[in-house]
Amino acid sequence: MEQELKTIYEVQVLESNIINNEKKKLIGPKKIEEMDKELEELKKKAEKEKTVIDELDKERRKKEKELDVEKDRIKKIEAKLYEVKTNKEYQALLKEIEMAKEEMDKTEEDIIILMDRIEDLKKDYKSVLEHLKKRENEIKEEKGRLLNELSNIDKTLEELKQQRNQLLKSVNEDLRNIYLNLIQRREGLAVVNVKNGVCLGCYMNIPPQLFIEVTKNNRLITCPSCNRIFYFVEDI
Ligand SMILES: [Zn+2]
Repeated sequence: MEQELKTIYEVQVLESNIINNEKKKLIGPKKIEEMDKELEELKKKAEKEKTVIDELDKERRKKEKELDVEKDRIKKIEAKLYEVKTNKEYQALLKEIEMAKEEMDKTEEDIIILMDRIEDLKKDYKSVLEHLKKRENEIKEEKGRLLNELSNIDKTLEELKQQRNQLLKSVNEDLRNIYLNLIQRREGLAVVNVKNGVCLGCYMNIPPQLFIEVTKNNRLITCPSCNRIFYFVEDI
C-alpha cells in the first residue's frame, strides 16, 4: 500500500500540473489581448494629450501674431501724434493709444495663461510617455514569455497526460476508482498533504491521532471532512 499511495500522490502532482497548464492555455491568450488593449489605450491617451498641446500652441502663436499687429498699430498711431494740428485730434489719438494698449495687455495676459497651461500639459504628457515606454518594455517581455509558454503547452500537456495515465495504470483498481471519483467531485484535487494537523484540501483540522497515522503513509486514510486521500509529505 505504501508504494501505491506514493504513486497515487505522484499521479496527483502530474494532475495538478496538467490543470495548471490547461488554465494557462485558457488564460494566456486573454492576458495577451488585455496587454495589447492596455498599450493601445495608453497610446491613445498620449495622442490625445499631444493634440491638446498642439492646439493650445497654435492658439498661442495666433495670439503672438495678434500682439505684433497691436504693437504695430500703436506705433503707427504714435507717429500720427506729430502730424496732428488740433488738440482735439491729439486727445483722440491718445485715447486710441490707450485703448490699443489695453487690448495689448489683454493679449499678453492670454499668452501667459496659455503658456502656463501648455507647460503643465507638457509635464503630464512627458509622464504619460514615460509610463507608456515602461509598459511597452514590460509587456513586450511578458508577451514573449507567454507566447513561448503557449507554443509549448500542447506538447507539455500531452507529455504530462501520458505520464499520468501510465502511472495511474500501475495503481490497483480500487484506489484508482476512488482517485478518479474524487478528481471529478473535488475539482481535480484528490490527494492532499496534511500540515500541522490541517487537511490541505479543505483546511479542516483532523484529530491528532489520525494525523499521526497519516504521517506513516502505510494505509489509505481519507479526510473526515472532504474525503480526499491523505499523503503526508514533510516541508511542503
Ligand atoms: Zn479535507
